[in-house]
Amino acid sequence: MHSSLKTAAVALAALFVVAACGGGAGTGTPAASSAATGATSTKPKLELASYAYAIQTKGKLRVGAREDNVPFGVKNVATSKFEGFDVDIAREIAKEIFGNESDIDKFIEYVPVVSATRIPTLTESKADFVIATFTINDDRKKQIDFSDVYFNTGQKILVKKDNSTITKVTDLNGKRVCSAKGSTSEVNIRKEAPQAALELQDTYVPCLILLQQGRVDAVSTDETILFGLVKQDPNTKIVGSYFSAEPYGIGVKKNANNDRNGFVDLINRSLVAMIQDGRWAKIYKQWITPVSGDEKTTPDQR
Ligand code: GLU
Repeated sequence: MHSSLKTAAVALAALFVVAACGGGAGTGTPAASSAATGATSTKPKLELASYAYAIQTKGKLRVGAREDNVPFGVKNVATSKFEGFDVDIAREIAKEIFGNESDIDKFIEYVPVVSATRIPTLTESKADFVIATFTINDDRKKQIDFSDVYFNTGQKILVKKDNSTITKVTDLNGKRVCSAKGSTSEVNIRKEAPQAALELQDTYVPCLILLQQGRVDAVSTDETILFGLVKQDPNTKIVGSYFSAEPYGIGVKKNANNDRNGFVDLINRSLVAMIQDGRWAKIYKQWITPVSGDEKTTPDQR
C-alpha cells in the first residue's frame, strides 16, 4: 500500500514535470518523456520543429532492421514479428516518441535491411533510423549521421569445429572466406588478409551454409554475430583474437535540409536513459547473454 502510493506520487510528480516543460514550447528544452515515468498512453511533449514531433503526428516510426541476424535482428517466421537486441533498443526509442505504450509495435513499421542497403535506406528516406549491427566509421559518417555507441564488439573468424589450420586472420590468405557485401567485415579482410578469396553474400546465414557445404573455409564478421551463428550450428567454432573494433551506432539521415531536427539528440538521450535505468542491461541479458555467456550493464564494459 505504502509503496504503491509512493509510486503514484512519483508518477504524478513526473506528469507535472511533463506538463510544465510542455508549457515552455520554444525554449529549446524538450520535455521529459512519459516512457521513463511508467505512465501509459501519455504522448510525450516534443518540440514542434523537431523530426520526432513529425513522426509522433504521423503515428509511425520506420525502423530499418535485420531479418536474419541473430541475436540482433530477426524476423520470427512463426509470428512475423521482429525481435532481438537491436529491435528492443528501437522499441525503447519509439517509447520516447509515442509514450510507454504496451504494444509499441503498433507505432513501428519495420523496414528490412541488409549490410549493403543500410546507407541507401537512410539517404533515400525509406526509414527514420537504421539499427542493424551498424559500425560507426568516418567513411560512413560522410554520408549519414550516427548516434553515440550503444554496443561494442570486434571482428573474428568462424570455422568448422575440426579445422586446425586457421587460428588467426593472416591464416585466411589463400583461403575462401565468406562475409557480407557492404560490411566493414569485408573491408577488414581485404586489409588484414589480402590474399584471401572473398565470397560475398547479402547476409551471414548464407555464409554459414557455404561453410557447412565446404564451399568456403571460414566466415568472418563481428564476434557477437558469429556467436549467433555458432548457436545455429554448434559444429562451428570462433577462432583468433579481435582484429578490428566495431562500435555500433544508430544511423540517421543527415540533417542537411533541417529535415531531421533534433533526432540524433533524442536517440542519444534515450540511449543514456536506458543505460542508466537498467533497461539496456535487461535487453543485453535477454538477447546477448544466451549466445555470449557474459553479462554487461553498459556498452563500455569490456
Ligand atoms: N558491424 C559491421 C558493419 O557494420 C559488420 C556487421 C554487418 O554487416 O552488419 O558493417
